[in-house]
Amino acid sequence: MKKYQEMTREELLAEQQSLQAEFDKIKAKGLSLDMSRGKPGTEQLELAMPMLDVVNSKTVLKSENGTDLRNYGILDGIPEAKRLIASMIDVDPEMILVYGNSSLNSMYDQVARAYYEGICGHTPWCKLEKVKFLCPVPGYDRHFAITEHFGIEMINIDMNDDGPLMDQVEEAVKDPSVKGIWCVPKYSNPEGVVYSDETVRRFAALKPAAEDFRIFWDNAYVVHHLYEDEQAEILNIFDEAKKYGNEDMIFEFCSTSKVSFPGSGIAGVAASKKNLEDIKSQLTYQTIGFDKINQYRHVAFFKDRAGIDAHMMKQAAIIRPKFEMLNDLLSEEIAPRGIGNWKKPLGGYFISFEALQGCAKEIIAKCKEAGVTMTGAGSPFPYKKDPKDSVIRIAPTYPSLEELTEAAKVFVTVVRLVSCEKMLAQ
Ligand code: PMP
Repeated sequence: MKKYQEMTREELLAEQQSLQAEFDKIKAKGLSLDMSRGKPGTEQLELAMPMLDVVNSKTVLKSENGTDLRNYGILDGIPEAKRLIASMIDVDPEMILVYGNSSLNSMYDQVARAYYEGICGHTPWCKLEKVKFLCPVPGYDRHFAITEHFGIEMINIDMNDDGPLMDQVEEAVKDPSVKGIWCVPKYSNPEGVVYSDETVRRFAALKPAAEDFRIFWDNAYVVHHLYEDEQAEILNIFDEAKKYGNEDMIFEFCSTSKVSFPGSGIAGVAASKKNLEDIKSQLTYQTIGFDKINQYRHVAFFKDRAGIDAHMMKQAAIIRPKFEMLNDLLSEEIAPRGIGNWKKPLGGYFISFEALQGCAKEIIAKCKEAGVTMTGAGSPFPYKKDPKDSVIRIAPTYPSLEELTEAAKVFVTVVRLVSCEKMLAQ
């Protein structure tokens, strides 16, 4: 198989004609397939159904500390739920505040509190002329949506296989208006990048100009391995930060959204004592407490970290073939033609495909024309602006393997067609 870059104009023209014919045939099928959002598939959700049986009208709904779970009380979570969340991210349960049903909600609230009340007595960000956030790219669109919503200026930070480029981060935090950074340190959304030890250490050792600078360490995929025998681990950022007296610089977030049920899981925030006190002093105006019965349900079902890990391996068995099918197809059809790159993830929920420069929008539009919905072009970037118009986030988990295979074949045909057209136009 020849690389497109090595083809003559005549060869490219012939390739384009045959791909156009193939594309027209696909279009005529009237497909309706979706590879756009990172949702668990139905089969994965089925695995957690027994969790709904652990609580019924006969259950004694009491926490181990005697609290009646049916009533108001306990702002920061029942102790057994703190332990469960703490075990996911390997921190002391004392550092945990069990939030509601969504970590994104807790991140939004954290930005909102910083914005209108300020962090630990610092000037509220809304009173400052300029507030900036660092955004490793490609990244999670909903992170960027939060900071954009608050009018915070977002600065792109490039990523490589070790995580965000720390030279760029260290330089950027010298600016006192830079107040935070979004990080997904393990199996990042969308590339599946795992931050190296050096990256975590350099984060932990940061010396930002702003005292209220915070690392938003969103460990959303901490337990989301695809393989039993090849699991990434990252350094514990709090342990590292302690060495530099920097524990106050970190907010860590996680949830059971893609462990149990998205929208009906439990979320947790981990932070230093000082930060936790600060959060609670404001949160107390917002709620009397979150859903303790759901916290109890999760503890009764998963029991501990081993329970979560075993459950996640069952999920992995369902989604692994989807990731592998995509990886194999891209390896066969795209790599030898030199028209795209991607990393094979060991966990998380996405594959990030890098098309030839200037092709992503057109590929996504043509997929849509053929009945395959992809995540919007530019989504993994602040302001939805992909500087190279090349990144496409592929979310393989939700469709069945059969549907995904059909959608992936369409995607590959479209990538070839658009790449061909691009090269002919040059
Ligand atoms: N963080 C990341 C990196 C995500 O990809 C997602 C989406 N699953 C979330 C947070 C949202 O999590 P939650 O459902 O806990 O709000």
